[in-house]
Amino acid sequence: MPQSPAQQLLSSVFGYDSFRGDQQAIVEHVASGNDALVLMPTGGGKSLCYQIPALLREGCGIVISPLIALMQDQVEALHQVGVRAEFLNSTLDAETAARVERELLAGELKLLYVAPERLLTGRFLSLLGRAHISLFAIDEAHCVSQWGHDFRPEYRQLTVLHERWPQVPRIALTATADPPTQREIAERLDLSTAQHFVSSFDRPNIRYTVVQKDNAKRQLLGFLRNHRDEAGIVYCMSRRKVEETAQFLCGEGMQALPYHAGMPPEVRAANQRRFLREDGIVMCATIAFGMGIDKPDVRFVAHTDLPKSMEGYYQETGRAGRDGEAAEAWLCYGLGDVVLLKQMIEQS
Ligand code: ADP
Repeated sequence: MPQSPAQQLLSSVFGYDSFRGDQQAIVEHVASGNDALVLMPTGGGKSLCYQIPALLREGCGIVISPLIALMQDQVEALHQVGVRAEFLNSTLDAETAARVERELLAGELKLLYVAPERLLTGRFLSLLGRAHISLFAIDEAHCVSQWGHDFRPEYRQLTVLHERWPQVPRIALTATADPPTQREIAERLDLSTAQHFVSSFDRPNIRYTVVQKDNAKRQLLGFLRNHRDEAGIVYCMSRRKVEETAQFLCGEGMQALPYHAGMPPEVRAANQRRFLREDGIVMCATIAFGMGIDKPDVRFVAHTDLPKSMEGYYQETGRAGRDGEAAEAWLCYGLGDVVLLKQMIEQS
């Protein structure tokens, strides 16, 4: 059978033999100019769902992403396979930003990643008005939902894209699976006529274990003994507990690092980089850590406290085993967690 243009790009540019799951259907749907809402687990392969349509269509695909680190990774990866892609965010100096804008207007870019704050400025919208746009991809689309912990108010204003460019297809993507959030995304982003592509969220390579707390530290050590020198994440409910756990694990001879929103941004970023680049780092973190972390060989995700919601738990544990190899999700809960969680919910 002759290969479709999408399949040709998949192999000639990205070097993959075949599409996974819904990828091909999504690519063809968007490449033909239709809107889509894509729910796919972390590691499922969402990026290709907009990258290939952007390559198939004329003009530049605009990718809205709240994650600066992720933009850089994606653009680097695209450069490696020879795709003209750039990003625009606050880390660029004025000269580089001006060069990227010139390239956009000259029709030299196939993909441009941009943070929502920048996209929504009058200046940038008018720049887009002078560019040839192939599609809009709205990544981490669940940020539009007020109920999740990733809420970004700017995401609510992204309806402007559809108002100004009604003929440009939009694809919204998220790894958040629950139906209320899905409905909220469709409503808030004005995607009522978009086709929904919902992948299976079953992750057969992750083994889930739940234990009741009696001596949490000893139990955690027991669990980690099976994962010596492997990379993993230990989620803790509070910043203080993050610090304590990291210290405790270091004392036990492990390479553990803390990560929470109360740390200086440069220390946090340095710890994240070490986790991504070095082998066998255990990241002790609050749920501030994880969105957009693309590390395939995370072998375990441990929760030393009860997660706040089923949805959150699914997302957090979904960071394990993205390479498809065996991974473990371990949860240690106590009745005290329920009381503490209730207090936190009442206070917020
Ligand atoms: P997501 O954004 O859904 O978390 P990514 O787009 O980052 O996932 O893809 C996860 C990994 O899977 C990446 O390393 C990517 O290159 C790989 N991948 C995606 N699609 C395919 C495919 N069809 N064949 C092989 N590998 C793929």
